[in-house]
Amino acid sequence: MTMSEPISDKSDFIRDIINEDNKTEKFKKRVHTRFPPEPNGYLHIGHAKSICLNYGIARDYSGKFNLRFDDTNPTKEDQEYVDSIIDDVKWLGGDFEDRLFYASDYFEQMYAWAVQLIEHGKAYVCDLTGDEIRAMRGTLTEAGKGSPYRDRTPGENLALFARMRAGEFPDGAKTLRAKIDMASPNINLRDPIMYRIVHEDHHRQGNKWCIYPTYDWAHGLEDSIEGITHSICTLEFENHRPLYDWFIEQLGIFHPQQIEFARLNLTYTILSKRKLLRLVQEGHVSGWDDPRMPTIAGYRRRGYTSDAIKNFCDIISVAKRDSTIDVALLEHGIREDLNKKARRAMAVLNPVKVVITNFPEGRTEMLEAVNNPEDETAGTRMVPFSRELYIEQDDFREVPPPKYHRLSVGTEVRLRYAYIIKCETIVKDADGAVRELHCTYDPDTRSGMPGASRKVKATVHWVSAKDAVDAEVRLYDRLFIRENPDDAEDGKDFLSNLNPHSLQVLPRCKVEQMLGSAMPGDRCQFERLGYFCADARDSKPGAPVFNRIVTLKDAWTKIEQKGKQ
Ligand code: ATP
Ligand code: MG
Repeated sequence: MTMSEPISDKSDFIRDIINEDNKTEKFKKRVHTRFPPEPNGYLHIGHAKSICLNYGIARDYSGKFNLRFDDTNPTKEDQEYVDSIIDDVKWLGGDFEDRLFYASDYFEQMYAWAVQLIEHGKAYVCDLTGDEIRAMRGTLTEAGKGSPYRDRTPGENLALFARMRAGEFPDGAKTLRAKIDMASPNINLRDPIMYRIVHEDHHRQGNKWCIYPTYDWAHGLEDSIEGITHSICTLEFENHRPLYDWFIEQLGIFHPQQIEFARLNLTYTILSKRKLLRLVQEGHVSGWDDPRMPTIAGYRRRGYTSDAIKNFCDIISVAKRDSTIDVALLEHGIREDLNKKARRAMAVLNPVKVVITNFPEGRTEMLEAVNNPEDETAGTRMVPFSRELYIEQDDFREVPPPKYHRLSVGTEVRLRYAYIIKCETIVKDADGAVRELHCTYDPDTRSGMPGASRKVKATVHWVSAKDAVDAEVRLYDRLFIRENPDDAEDGKDFLSNLNPHSLQVLPRCKVEQMLGSAMPGDRCQFERLGYFCADARDSKPGAPVFNRIVTLKDAWTKIEQKGKQ
């Protein structure tokens, strides 16, 4: 089932390494990758990149892909996160088949391996506090100092380690450390901690354990147990690779290859679980799946498609150096995808009533509207036209500015798929607000009539007042006002760059009849306004709530054209 030739012609430095490994038969031409999240938050777009990369490689080399929870720290982990991560990985098409694993299931094996290192004089129990260990570790230019407990005998260490496991010591009283080299130029090799004491219930193991392995000790073992061939991680682990290799070599177990790539950074976006957690906990957003969050759950609820996200991850490829991708590229991809897929509809977000004074009362005409000009198979639908309509307040001006081509008293516009109308008079409330626009229509200008091709300067969308459905519409903008949200003024943090206008709720919109029955998650284009998605939490058929996914204005195309000039 393994093949030496990949089935895709994609090329990047990771695939180059794999091709070489296949040539030399380093792993007997096996390719097995994994995605190893810690269940301490929801997944974000950076994780999507890692999933697409790992899954894509396994798929292209007819290999295997595991989902593994790196659940080694009970203080921050939670079942809610486990469930959301499984959901999100599946939604992105990361097919792990029956290979869903938990690092915590390997604790017994890890413990046995730690005992083996102790027996070989390669690990010792240390009584220094965390602060003391840090203070003695030295610096980049200065060697560290050995712990006074470094020369405990294997016998002493075995006994103490067993007592650590048995719960005889309080949190922080002791650690198990690898005995490597306090003078190593790589600080990670200066007797790193393998186990710490944490008396806390684990979301899967309950109170079975009170010692927990560190990432550095655990990660390579997890990869080895699962037979992972290429263990792909982000660049910050590059300096940890010698340690990853050291543990595996000391134990003489199967040795996966760690490969590092640059993590994804996006403009106007925070991609740190710790900071995203703050946004949630401090109430700056409504939850992990708030449609403004860069989480998979948030994007999903916003209405982003998994195809567009996968395509984005493909386009940006992998690099060895950190860089920041323009979020406009992601938004551009969402638009392109939806342009092909989304049905068009008419919706009026800030309605003003139009009365067609020369249209008979009680009459309804059904007019044909195109469902998707990009997709002929989507066909057409009939929309009702009647004496009273709604149009956008913004498509009318009492005092039109220069070059304003839409409606004002005495001017004409075309109603999309319908007639040309002319505004005759304005009807105002007692307080002077525009209540209605009284217009006349030209009956000769609908499709199929001789005046159908008569040109006016603007076409606007509308809905029939008696047929329209009330809807709430939520307009989203970027969550941060700065390209780099971490670039804050002195003494302030990323929260000072939150965009106060990132959410605008329009509670009294009027939408075309068919949108009234939208199912949660349904997407469409509101003509002239953008792409919208019925909210997965709050929308119900009959009482629709729509999230704006993206506007129609494409900043990326502009950026691209500038680049070409
Ligand atoms: P933190 O935000 O606390 O640094 P993390 O995002 O690294 O944590 P993990 O659960 O350890 O959280 O990540 C799982 C996997 O996703 C890791 O292999 C990690 O390298 C990868 N990953 C995380 N963030 C990004 C990113 N921005 N770009 C690409 N891959 C990422
Ligand atoms: Mg991490």
